[in-house]
Parts: sequence; structure tokens; C-alpha cells
Amino acid sequence: MVQKLKNYIGGRWVESSAANYTPVHNPATCELLAECPDSPRVDVDKAVKAASAAYEEWRSTPLLNRAQYMFQLKTALEERFEELVAMVVKENGKTRDEARGEVRRGIESVDFATSVSSLMRGYKTEDISTGIDETAERQPLGVFAAITPFNFPLMVPLWFLPTAITCGNTFVLKPSPQTPISMQLLFEILDDLDLPEGVVNLVQGGKDSALAVMEHPDVIGVSFVGSTPVAKIVYETCAKHGKRVQAQGGAKNYIAVMPDANLEASVANIMGSAFGCAGQRCLAGSVVVAVGDAYEPLKRELLKRASGLRVGYGLAENTQMGTVISDQSRQRIEGMIQEGVNEGATPVLDGRGIKVEGYENGSFVGPTILDGVTPEMKVARDEIFGPVLSVMHVPDFESMVQVINQSRYGNAASIFTSSGKYAREFKYRIRAGNIGINVGVAAATASFPFGGQKESFFGDLHGQGQDAIEFYTDRKILIERWL
Ligand code: NAD
Repeated sequence: MVQKLKNYIGGRWVESSAANYTPVHNPATCELLAECPDSPRVDVDKAVKAASAAYEEWRSTPLLNRAQYMFQLKTALEERFEELVAMVVKENGKTRDEARGEVRRGIESVDFATSVSSLMRGYKTEDISTGIDETAERQPLGVFAAITPFNFPLMVPLWFLPTAITCGNTFVLKPSPQTPISMQLLFEILDDLDLPEGVVNLVQGGKDSALAVMEHPDVIGVSFVGSTPVAKIVYETCAKHGKRVQAQGGAKNYIAVMPDANLEASVANIMGSAFGCAGQRCLAGSVVVAVGDAYEPLKRELLKRASGLRVGYGLAENTQMGTVISDQSRQRIEGMIQEGVNEGATPVLDGRGIKVEGYENGSFVGPTILDGVTPEMKVARDEIFGPVLSVMHVPDFESMVQVINQSRYGNAASIFTSSGKYAREFKYRIRAGNIGINVGVAAATASFPFGGQKESFFGDLHGQGQDAIEFYTDRKILIERWL
């Protein structure tokens, strides 16, 4: 019997009233892992009601006691670390080491939440007028929700839930229906913590469940991570319904390589950026812009290293690159490679149609390098979200800056150089929210906000860091005079 996933509402596992269930497959082995309900509005309503009912008692629970749950959560995640890793690999397709990195990053967000007590302080000024004092205090706001993507099934929900609830809010999570099982495990762990009923709730489902969350009058704010078209919908829908919203969208990340870069170290970094997680990272380097004489040696080295990558099942020994999320995704990526070729790019390494022994029906796309890509080509403009690296050649620094800044996305950009002058110019002028200097994946750690500009982010306050505290609390102003 394949397990039918349940929702977690008001401290209990409850069956969804969904009419439809979506199969969840292991994208390498094709094994049917579970069936995910497409939870209807009524389920979302129950979850939000449970979260609303829990709010007053939870917000008045002493902050240090709320933070204690985060210490317990951290311990429990460490204890079940490898189990979580294996589940991320099975439902997502990445490699075991990549999943380890993901779970570790998720735990770092829980670490961050333990310090909320010192981060949500207010401030006070005495004698703002004669005998009058003025205070700004931070208060939680109510029920927050998160809608999260498939590519980091454990880490992304942990960007939000721990900080939101430690600030004193209650929470409803709607994860991706493509990777819902990691969240079942997380909520089993949360259930063991004996949090008061209704503080955390899980509703499994797809876009209809997400819409019900965004339209619910009792949800105060929504954290979203996913593709740009959906981020726009989420931003607009939440605004229309009077909610706070932070919507992190898709990306097209450029990596510039100057002729003075350390070639070997740069290529090692670029490989990880372009082909890590099979290119399914919002920070994945997708276009490498070789400046001047960097082009020929860089292309040669990239080709050599990428051809040697061992593609396979994430849980198998020695695998260096796993699958993409689904067969549908594989077909979409292969279609985009073909569009690049049709527009004049040369596939110097073509990962289409590769077969992995023992996993012949798996959703594999091999590492692909497209050479001769120009800025107007679709492969240079649109997010591919697969293991495809486009190579562009420009004559100088100025042309490189122009090419990168004309992208409609602004999630991340990196430069490889040994010149401090170029590095500073790059950081100063490039319109992207996460900048790497000799770093291929410029991923903000938990105490810094996760950047993102242009069509990669909609909102004001980013996820993580002090921005998260601001997002999940409001400042109330108190003006007092005692006669
Ligand atoms: P997606 O946009 O398809 O789905 C994300 C979430 O939105 C899922 O929970 C999904 O069920 C829900 N959803 C789908 N359609 C919806 C709709 N019309 N209305 C409301 N909700 C809807 O994204 P995905 O394919 O799961 O994830 C990959 C995308 O996420 C990539 O574009 C990647 O760049 C992006 N991403 C961005 C960041 C970031 O920090 N900027 C991080 C990770 C992933």
C-alpha cells in the first residue's frame, strides 16, 4: 500500500478531504513513494483556524520558552540527520552530499531562530517631550504561511517556520507537491516536541491550496519561494488580500571570468555552481561570460571537467550529479537545449538522452555546455533550471557588465578575478542581490538576508536575517506620560 500523505492540523495528523492525490515518484528509480493530497480550501481553512486559535496563548508564552523549542528542534534534526538526507535524495533526486548540505543549511536556520530573543528587541527614548517617554516594541502579528518549492524541500521551509514561530506567530506550511515527504518527516519531529496544538500546521497540496492560503482573511503574511511567474501571482494576490508578502522568484545567474582569474580554482567553483543539484538551484550559475583571453582556456577546462562528471542515483556510491525533478522537467530542459541550438549555439557537451545503467527510466539530463551563446538567445535570457551552462564571449569588462545588467533577473552574479579593482566595480555596478567574488554560489547564511532583485524578488523584506525578524513582527509605538 502506498502511503497517502496526511495534513498536520491542530497538533494531529488528519486525512485531507481532497478528491485528487498526486503521485510522488523517486525521479531516479521511478518508485512510487507516496500520494500527495491536493488539499481543498476547507482543509486550509481548518489549518488557519487551528493556527488562529493557538495564537494568543503562544504569543504570551515567554520568549525564552519559545526559543527552547528551537534548541530541541535542532537536537532532533541532528539525531535524524541521515534519515532526512535520504528522504531529500529519494524525493528530489540530488546527491547524498548535496542533501547533507541542504539539511545542514536548514539546521543553521534553526540555530538562527534560537537568537530571536536578542534580535526582536525594541527601543526607548526618555523625555521625548517634557515627562513623556516613547517606546517602540516588537510584537508578533498572528498567522503566517509559507509556500515553498521542490528544489530544497527541507531547507526552504526552515528559512521561515523557526523564526516565524519563535517571534510568537503561528504557522501554516504548504510545501511543493513534488517533494512533500520531507515535510511529513519534519512535522513528525515537530510533533515530538509537544509544541502547543496549532502552533505549526502542514497542508499538503498544489496551487489551489496555495490560493486558499493567500486568500484566507486570517493569514497575516506569506513567505513564498518558487518560480518568477508564480512569485508575481503570489505578490499580487497577497497584496490584493491585504497581506504582508515576501516572494522570492526564479533566476538567471551570470558568472564573469576575467583573464586574470585563477583558472583552476575558478573552474572548480563554476562546475559546482552550474551542475550542483543538477542545476536546480536558484543560485546556479547558468551563463558564464568569458572576458577577452579568458575564453579559450576556460572553455577547454570546463569541457574537460564537465565531461568527467559521474551522473547517477543520488544514493549510489560515487554519484556526482543526480536527476532533475521529473520526466516532464527533463523534456522541458532538453527542449530548451534544442532551442539554443536552433538559435545558433553549439552544444560542445550534450547531455540529452543519457542513460544511467540500472536507472534507465530515471529523469537524467547529463551536463551540457552550449558555446557561442549571445545575449538575445532564449537560453541566455530564460531560466532553464537544469544542468546546462551557456558560454558567452565578450571583449572587455564593460561589455560584460552590460550583458549581465540587461537580464530581467537579479538573483545572483559572480566574478572570478585576481583584481580588487574589477571585483569592487563588479559588486558596485551589477544589479543582483547576491554577489560572489571568486565564489560560484553566493548563498547568504542564515543571519544575513537572502538577496534578490528585479524579477527574482517581489517585496521589501527578504527571507532570513534581521529582515525575517522585521517581516514576522511589527513595531508598536508607545507614548507615555505619568501624571
Ligand atoms: P513553482 O513556482 O512551480 O512552485 C513553488 C510553489 O508554488 C509550490 O508550492 C507550488 O505548489 C506553488 N504554486 C505553483 N503554482 C502556483 C500558483 N499558480 N499559485 C500559487 N502557488 C502556486 O516553483 P518550483 O518549480 O517548485 O521551484 C523552482 C523555482 O523556484 C525556480 O524558478 C527557482 O529559481 C525558484 N527558487 C527560488 C529561490 C530563491 O530564493 N529566489 C530558491 C529556491 C528556488
